[in-house]
Amino acid sequence: MSDVYRDRERKAAKDHRCCECDTLIAKGSTYIYASGVWDGSGWSVKFCKRCNEVRGKACKFARYDPDECPQIPGLAQWLVDSFDDLHDLKTNAEIIEAGGKILIELLAKGQRAY
Ligand SMILES: [Zn+2]
Repeated sequence: MSDVYRDRERKAAKDHRCCECDTLIAKGSTYIYASGVWDGSGWSVKFCKRCNEVRGKACKFARYDPDECPQIPGLAQWLVDSFDDLHDLKTNAEIIEAGGKILIELLAKGQRAY
């Protein structure tokens, strides 16, 4: 887990790609800029608002245990590891879209990872 972590919304000054789902973050749209320090090395990534939402639900599902939350990037892998229904999906964008729906259903039922 990251020693230091912070994220905030930014407005794209140019086109970017989401580090999780590889979807275009178009110039002028808002995205999440996350940065931190891990084992003494600085890192930063950009991800789209949908991935940020799904990540938030994933962390909630994992009871906000930092060791159980998805790594960044690593949301699609976390979802595939967590839900068998996603094994047949090919792209990270499909996995994150479908995984987000599963998380919404489970959280609505009050279910958690453990
Ligand atoms: Zn994304």
